[in-house]
Amino acid sequence: MNSNTPIVPCLIGNSWEIIQTDKYTNVFNPATESIIARTPMCNSKLVEKAIDSAKKAFVGWSKEPATSRASILFNYRTLIKENFEEIARLISTENGKTISEARGDIQRGFEVVEFACGIAEHQKGESLNQIAENIDALSSREPLGVCAGISPFNFPAMVPMWMFPIALACGNTFILKPSEKVPLTAVRLTELLQEAGLPQGVMNLVHGGKEVVDTLCSHPDISAISFVGSSTIAKYVYSLGSQNGKRVQAGGAAKNALVVMPDADPESTLRAVMSASFGCAGQRCMAGSLLIGVGGIGESLKEKIVFEMDNLKVGNPLKDLETNMGPVIDKNSQLRIAEVINKVSKEAKLARDGRDLINNNGFFIGPTLFTDVNPKNTIFKQEVFGPVLSMMNPKNLEQAISWTNQLNYGNGASIFTQSGAAAKEFRSNIQCGMIGVNVGVPAPMSMFPFSGWNDSFYGDLHMQGNEGIQFYTRHKVTLSRWDNTYENKSGW
Ligand code: NAD
Repeated sequence: MNSNTPIVPCLIGNSWEIIQTDKYTNVFNPATESIIARTPMCNSKLVEKAIDSAKKAFVGWSKEPATSRASILFNYRTLIKENFEEIARLISTENGKTISEARGDIQRGFEVVEFACGIAEHQKGESLNQIAENIDALSSREPLGVCAGISPFNFPAMVPMWMFPIALACGNTFILKPSEKVPLTAVRLTELLQEAGLPQGVMNLVHGGKEVVDTLCSHPDISAISFVGSSTIAKYVYSLGSQNGKRVQAGGAAKNALVVMPDADPESTLRAVMSASFGCAGQRCMAGSLLIGVGGIGESLKEKIVFEMDNLKVGNPLKDLETNMGPVIDKNSQLRIAEVINKVSKEAKLARDGRDLINNNGFFIGPTLFTDVNPKNTIFKQEVFGPVLSMMNPKNLEQAISWTNQLNYGNGASIFTQSGAAAKEFRSNIQCGMIGVNVGVPAPMSMFPFSGWNDSFYGDLHMQGNEGIQFYTRHKVTLSRWDNTYENKSGW
């Protein structure tokens, strides 16, 4: 890094500010280890400036007709479409995922914008005439005020876009604090909002870590916090935000099981398992990291998985478009995952070892497979957040369900089977919020809430869909009395 490395700007009101501080986090291209930018670790003073700007902007924005807010979102939709490939390349550059994964990242966010374009329909209230003698009742959904979003590194576009398009559509103003490791996509997404015609101060962008997050969670002018990241921080943000009277939704970590029945379709199941386990180098909160093969299916699956793993092309996604798997986010992650592999290899059988890529340029870890894992092994419940798959051999479906329900998390679980009865048994007994039936990644879809349970989510109303609208609004119920005093006056 040298002093010419660009500093990532913050947006306060209508001005992009370059913050000079003594603390920066390097933004890497994880595939090359080159430093591409420096994220300023801002202090609470700057956050207070952003809150002030958002508070002022709320006065006008919250009064804008829903159709006017929607029309800006329609412009935004067009701009994202026009800049889609550029954004995908930016995501791939700062996060390391492949171009097709990066397209998926922005596509999922794009769909939330499309959902938010329908705000005039979503934000409608209810009414009941003559709720009492001459009294009509109506409820309206009112915006909350200034809302804040704090996001993780693994989906630089999708996760922030679970938050701000719906918050803004509902008439709130917003402060986004993206992950300091991948701030460049957030800058581009914010620039496009300005280009779409969003008034000054409605969207603000700040960068940093704990100090910024603490200020957002405790400042009296923040009404709601949306957080996504690891469970420890999610729990912390949830308690700090709620202690300070804020509405909080906080998505956390995950450990997701893929249960394969003996009657599962071999080819599509193999494809789904490979993609769920090694897609985005395993850095997905919906990654399938436990493969639970019922009735001895594990043995034949293992051979096929090993074959596919040996043929996965791991490399720099922007240099070689055929790359199937990119690097992990940074050196710390790479070393942490290697340490997990060291430890688990003393407890379970290491069938494929990804540590041999560690000395290559770039933060690479190859696909790794453990077999004969059992619930006593530490990896059973631990989120690895890397390309590491563990195979388990239960006696039957009942045991597979029981193991899955012992995980502390509750983001997702999938079953692969041709049997409707087995799928129904699984679906009714699994304790988590997103279920896949012959689908490896039951992905968040914009028109449904993304529904983590247990330690995968703290709060009540989830992100996206109807719950997203509920989270970013509160009800106002108006009772109106109109006694029958109307007279038909001539000339009116
Ligand atoms: P992280 O918890 O380290 O960081 C998330 C955010 O919290 C970042 O913006 C970061 O700056 C901030 N932060 C970090 N330390 C903090 C502290 N001490 N105090 C206050 N704020 C702090 O998570 P990450 O490594 O960026 O992302 C990976 C994690 O996110 C994984 O556990 C993954 O499962 C989870 N995740 C969950 C979902 C979901 O929907 N449940 C989606 C994506 C990722």
